[in-house]
Amino acid sequence: MAGKADIERVVSDICGEMRARSDRGEVATYIPELARVDVGAFALAIVDTEGNVYAGGDSDTPFSIQSVSKVFTLTLALGKVGDHLWRRVGREPSGSPFNSIVQLEYERGIPRNPFINAGAIAVTDVILSGHRPKEALGEILRFIRFLADDASISIDEAVAASEQRTGFRNVALANYMKSFGVLENPVELTLGVYFHHCAIAMSCRQLAMAGRFLAQNGRHPTTGQQVVLAGRARRINAVMMTCGHYDGSGEFAFRVGLPGKSGVGGGILAVAPGKGSIAVWSPGLDASGNSRLGQIALEMLTKRLGWSIFSA
Ligand code: GLU
Repeated sequence: MAGKADIERVVSDICGEMRARSDRGEVATYIPELARVDVGAFALAIVDTEGNVYAGGDSDTPFSIQSVSKVFTLTLALGKVGDHLWRRVGREPSGSPFNSIVQLEYERGIPRNPFINAGAIAVTDVILSGHRPKEALGEILRFIRFLADDASISIDEAVAASEQRTGFRNVALANYMKSFGVLENPVELTLGVYFHHCAIAMSCRQLAMAGRFLAQNGRHPTTGQQVVLAGRARRINAVMMTCGHYDGSGEFAFRVGLPGKSGVGGGILAVAPGKGSIAVWSPGLDASGNSRLGQIALEMLTKRLGWSIFSA
């Protein structure tokens, strides 16, 4: 089993190697504010189940977590409506790009899973019901701050405004679902909350902290509170494993072997159950919208530490 010194060495080796690579992918440009991010950035942070933190690179630099926020909104929505959630959204891999609209037509407005954009918008709508947008957003932010033990986490308003101005596809997806009665709230209110939770900014260190409960059977390690029951944590991890990287999910499972969720800001949150929570950030993306070096770094990490869930 990998000890502290092994993990430290692996983090430092990966950060050194990733800094030097030139094949970094392309930063997302369809949200104009994200296009301004330095493609040379790289960060890796791990929090193991004993609470030790291993961090390298730009691990204290906040970045736009984008779709990684969908792990936390899924957890909140399951807490609010339980398994009824699965009537509004499926849990099958999509095999389609993150913002695809074709599948929605075939499936009568029910999104394939909570991590493609349509599914995450439906999940956001569940959280919003019965609240004002500000309250729903406050609840999401408070939840993430609680998970990470960090009250300083906040929303990057410039990123939210940038997406609000240009998120035409998401507007189309939301209107389409609304026409099937899948959304309860006015489309513009649901989207407002969605764009804002995608615009939450976190560092790798904060993100790895926020993911700890998923590595520890649903338990918040510092308060000892059960964030979700162990069975639910297992299922959230299963959805991350099968659906967390859009049409690149199979490839991620094949290469890395961990539940993980990516975002177009270049972040990935990965979970090694019983071992640790891992956050990686490199803003250049591959064709599926997943961090190019982030995936390579996680592949190296699981190989060297034996942390793939498929390692005996
Ligand atoms: N806010 C982004 C969108 O809706 C999230 C996409 C992503 O991170 O994959 O397009």
